[in-house]
Amino acid sequence: MSGRCSFTNEEGQRCSETGNLEFDHVDGFARAPVHRADRIRLLCHAHNQHAAERMYGRAFMERARASADAFKTGAGSPSG
Ligand SMILES: [Zn+2]
Repeated sequence: MSGRCSFTNEEGQRCSETGNLEFDHVDGFARAPVHRADRIRLLCHAHNQHAAERMYGRAFMERARASADAFKTGAGSPSG
């Protein structure tokens, strides 16, 4: 697959990343779970995370990461 991150910064410079590309749903997957090619763009992993933080808010993403960490480390430790 060939492609390039479609992120463009405020100066109009397009990201040159061609690896770690992911599909980003322009409307947000949770809001519009519709797979339409014209509503999907390619972003590198970093910019996909960046876009998600902007759309859902940093607090939401940090909560999501925190719960993922809790799951990884095992939340079922004995109390006491
Ligand atoms: Zn990028």
